[in-house]
Amino acid sequence: MQNTVPKSSELEKAYDPSVFRALGHQVVDLLADHIEKVQTDKDHPVLSYRDPEEELDFWKQDFSSDSDILNVFKNILDHSINVHHPRYIGHQVAVPALVSSLAGLMSDVLSNGTGVYEMGMAANAIEKIVTDFVAQKIGYTATTSGFLTSGGTLANLTALLAARKAKAPSEVWEQGHQEKLAVLVSEEAHYCIDRAARILGMGSEGIIKIPVDRYFKIDTNKLQEYYDKATSEGYHVIALVGCACSTATGSYDDLDVLGDFAKQHDLWFHVDGAHGAAVVFTEKYKHLVNGISRADSVVIDFHKMLMTPALNTGLIFKKAEDAYKTFEQKAQYLWDSQQTTEWYNSGKRTFECTKLMMSIKVYSILKTYGEQVFEQNIDHLYGLATVFSNMIIKRPDFELALTPEANIVNFRYTNSKEHDINTLNLNIRQALITSGKFYIVQTRIRGELYLRITIMNPLTQTSDLFELLDEIEHTAKLLREV
Ligand SMILES: *Cc1c(COP(=O)(O)O)cnc(C)c1O
Repeated sequence: MQNTVPKSSELEKAYDPSVFRALGHQVVDLLADHIEKVQTDKDHPVLSYRDPEEELDFWKQDFSSDSDILNVFKNILDHSINVHHPRYIGHQVAVPALVSSLAGLMSDVLSNGTGVYEMGMAANAIEKIVTDFVAQKIGYTATTSGFLTSGGTLANLTALLAARKAKAPSEVWEQGHQEKLAVLVSEEAHYCIDRAARILGMGSEGIIKIPVDRYFKIDTNKLQEYYDKATSEGYHVIALVGCACSTATGSYDDLDVLGDFAKQHDLWFHVDGAHGAAVVFTEKYKHLVNGISRADSVVIDFHKMLMTPALNTGLIFKKAEDAYKTFEQKAQYLWDSQQTTEWYNSGKRTFECTKLMMSIKVYSILKTYGEQVFEQNIDHLYGLATVFSNMIIKRPDFELALTPEANIVNFRYTNSKEHDINTLNLNIRQALITSGKFYIVQTRIRGELYLRITIMNPLTQTSDLFELLDEIEHTAKLLREV
């Protein structure tokens, strides 16, 4: 048959495998060279910081220029933060194992939508294997089921939707609700829980924030008081959310005690383990989530502690049927019956319709290196946080906010009589980022500004952290002189 697209058309070139092959080899070489450089050359900046307007101007100029795509890719590398750099110790994003980035390329080439079985046979089957595997690590038994979804934020929202389905007094999905619904959650919970509750129509009053103790864990002595107050004001509390761990300080709530409380009051028990539930893969740290198997639902981000490119999140339910009830809705063109549980039609349980082939990225790591690679990663990163906190304690000019349980450490520079400590630390961080030598973040703890690191890169060494403190001392000295 005659090909109707003219041979020389741009449209045809866009699908030419030989172009893909040639460019693909160049792009893989470019990426491999880049990763090699940022992993080994400490003088290479973690981030070449530019102001937003300057960055925008750069790309406006590029857009109207005739730069070729390989140059564009090079510029993207130069204008992006390098999470593979051992001195990237900022936000909680995994440094992807390289094999999972290749699986990501597979996903982007195949572009299987996965929502319905035929649109992702491998991805759906692998998704069941991966989520069942995690469920077993959590300690769930045969009735469990889970799925992958686009990020912890969406997973937490989905879990609370399931909670509402299970525990609200009326059929909210069909009829809306008149009752005042509420959730109990740590005041240290990730802001997405607050957002999710608002999206669910609970309003700010329906998000009942339990104060934390001095270790930033839910003060379990206060649970009853807050619950009683809410019910006496006419709230119907549907869920209790535990943090494993909290985002700012990496503190693990006492899940066993929370589990008891939830059971006693017939609440949905949800564990936001986006960051820290990954310790279920370790011998050394799994005690931090004792009681996790009592949760009705658990969120775990593969793109935080489990070496997978963002976004990639597991939402695992203790009872499979809860997952299927969340979005009961007719979509006849997708599946025959809403009432049946079909694990292979992933879209029945997820907010997304089309979704990335996330499962193959996790699977590629497990197949290549085995589950012990997760344990090695967590042991290294959590262990290094303890090493770092001991370093801080030994330096008189620094103060540690609290002993870390996870790989998140908050600290600050305190040697200054003439400067406000908060402003000084703010300026230290700004100077570090502008220098490109380290990437760290900041947070407020009890109103005070702290420097915050999350050790995410398995290639980060003790010496990098030692030099971070040297660099902060040096920067502070310069700042104090002006
Ligand atoms: C990162 C994080 C989230 C948000 O997850 P995303 O994947 O970034 O959407 C929620 N809760 C906790 C505890 C987290 O650490």
